[in-house]
Amino acid sequence: MNTKELYQEIILDHGKNPRNLGKTENYNKEAKGHNPLCGDKVHIFLELDENKKIKDISFEGSGCAISMASASILTDLIKGKEENEIKEIVRDFLEMIKTKENLENKSLTEDDITKLMCLSGVKQYPMRVKCATLAWHTLTSAIENKKEEINIEELD
Ligand code: ZN
Repeated sequence: MNTKELYQEIILDHGKNPRNLGKTENYNKEAKGHNPLCGDKVHIFLELDENKKIKDISFEGSGCAISMASASILTDLIKGKEENEIKEIVRDFLEMIKTKENLENKSLTEDDITKLMCLSGVKQYPMRVKCATLAWHTLTSAIENKKEEINIEELD
């Protein structure tokens, strides 16, 4: 299996069987986002503890395989991490998906990075970039506790 096939396999797996789907019981932050260009919707629920660490995270949503896989992978790998670590992960991921060749982040394992690199194929397709980044912008909005729904079309 080459890298491209491996990446597609992981996306299909997460797209078909999203992890952390549903509404986590004791969430204290949430945010919604949508991508009108493709019809993707995501609603993120998270429980931050007193140390600003993610105790639990889940999402509800509907949309294309890329948007669902991205939300699934995202929720999977930030569980247990602290708010400042998450901000760096979001920043590094967004940089990679838009411009950079690679992704480096000290709080991610190699396995986590492989999962994120699966989404790197969207780089050539600006419309698809919106699908892949929807959950990430929505997560930032949840952490900042913004009340308004995110419209990804209006963000870069
Ligand atoms: Zn989409």
